[in-house]
Amino acid sequence: MTAQTPIAVDTKKLNAAMARFPRDRAMQIAGRDALGGGETIERRSPAHGVIVTRVPRGRAEDARAVIAAARMGFDEGPWPSETAANRARVLLKVADLIDRDREALALMDTLESGKAIAQARGEIEGAADIWRYAASLARELSGESYANLGRDRLGVVLREPIGVVSIITPWNFPFLIVSQKLPFALAAGCACVVKPSEMTSASTLHLGTLLAEAGLPDGACNIVTGYGPDVGAPMTSDPDVDMISFTGSTAVGRAAMAAGAATLKKVSMELGGKNPQVVFPDADMDAALDAATFGAYFNAGECCNAGSRLLLQADIAEAFLSELAQRSKRVKVGDPLDPDTRVGAIISADHLGKIERHVKAAREAGAVVRTDGTRLESDGLFMAPTIVADVGPSMAIAREEVFGPVVVALTLKTLDEAIALANSTAYGLSASVWSRDLDTALSVGRGVRAGTIWVNTFMDGTPELPFGGYRQSGVGRELGRNAVKDYTEEKTLHVHAGPRTSWWLPRGA
Ligand code: NDP
Repeated sequence: MTAQTPIAVDTKKLNAAMARFPRDRAMQIAGRDALGGGETIERRSPAHGVIVTRVPRGRAEDARAVIAAARMGFDEGPWPSETAANRARVLLKVADLIDRDREALALMDTLESGKAIAQARGEIEGAADIWRYAASLARELSGESYANLGRDRLGVVLREPIGVVSIITPWNFPFLIVSQKLPFALAAGCACVVKPSEMTSASTLHLGTLLAEAGLPDGACNIVTGYGPDVGAPMTSDPDVDMISFTGSTAVGRAAMAAGAATLKKVSMELGGKNPQVVFPDADMDAALDAATFGAYFNAGECCNAGSRLLLQADIAEAFLSELAQRSKRVKVGDPLDPDTRVGAIISADHLGKIERHVKAAREAGAVVRTDGTRLESDGLFMAPTIVADVGPSMAIAREEVFGPVVVALTLKTLDEAIALANSTAYGLSASVWSRDLDTALSVGRGVRAGTIWVNTFMDGTPELPFGGYRQSGVGRELGRNAVKDYTEEKTLHVHAGPRTSWWLPRGA
């Protein structure tokens, strides 16, 4: 099949998938199911057009209730003072339960988001691994001690959980992204309020039931569903919240930081990206082409880390783009429930329209669209893999996140130009460099201002390595050995032993 063939979906597969999990879900507040005021949000599968889940439409009062539950869970609940061994035991049990329910969780994410099922299964597997990594860090968390301050002084630096954490997640990796935050916050001993995107709430709500099954005490994790302005906004401004951990757009991240500033909340922000893949003539071209295809279209390009900006050395640009166009036609776009599908549906009709408008504007600005650049014929929401060439660095499509299966190509002549172009957007999430020359690879690796630089690979990840952005791609890092520390405060215990040695007022006066 080529990308141009009208896309059909398999109704039998759809019905079997829908039978694997309940349609209706409740919010979770202090261990109880909650339905809010009774209004619901229906989610239709963007590939199939049928209602796959219904969740409560939470309102400000529901946000207030979950925050109060988390506050109580932190101030009076057993979790913050639980031993590291017991915290780790719960997190490990959660990982086992995720493995047990892997297929159902993958189906929830696939049906709500439109992502390919084979990819969703990989994400759930990766998420379980992150829960296990967080369990290992829980037992390593420690402070510092200073016995070198003199015989009468001892300094101890404690690491204490920061308190109540608001976790706000987007729709593109529903289960994976909550798993990059929640296990570390819980490992630190925090109590959490979680809000998934209203389009992809099911797997997060299912996770809530797994946490209870694993023995997490009531109030340590509370989940509210609804729209950002209704329930997300209070989670960023409420004085009872100590920290915000957010993944989503740079615009909403900025608003969340501003809302949290009034009460000086700590923030962790994982935001957008316009990530360059820089290819030099001495690269392994076959590998670079495969990575460029993957980077452009993985998760339908709805990915903060998408390799959406190809920076090609001029001598190889034409040959590279011709071959990329051939490979783009071989990408299987289709029913996300088909295990061979590589690119599933786009999240919503609004978003598909936005992607098309980006491509149209680029064409009007003088860029050349090398492949389709349009939606595909279907009852669902599908977009053809699209290459936009002859792009100038000042064009909107070279600077703004498209968040669709659209890759732009710019050309360059020198190494310095490559670094300058790579740094020419407001973002700095990730980049890759393709070259067999050590000097070239290291120069790009050192010169590009981004949180992750891949050398001769793209979008590899592992919980051991920190992830996050420079500049407007975010604040702070997730994952890595400091991931639990991020959810702690440092407290200094400065101890004096023995008689007072330094008097402020003269003695006996
Ligand atoms: P948003 O940034 O709007 O949403 C992310 C999360 O924030 C969602 O749970 C959303 O809730 C919530 N939210 C929305 N408004 C507020 C608010 N005022 N206060 C607190 N929380 C809020 O991203 P979208 O999902 O709408 O996507 C828009 C664009 O953002 C995409 O086109 C893409 O460019 C970018 N994006 C980047 C992502 C990344 O991984 N860095 C992920 C997703 C999107 P709800 O959606 O339920 O209203």
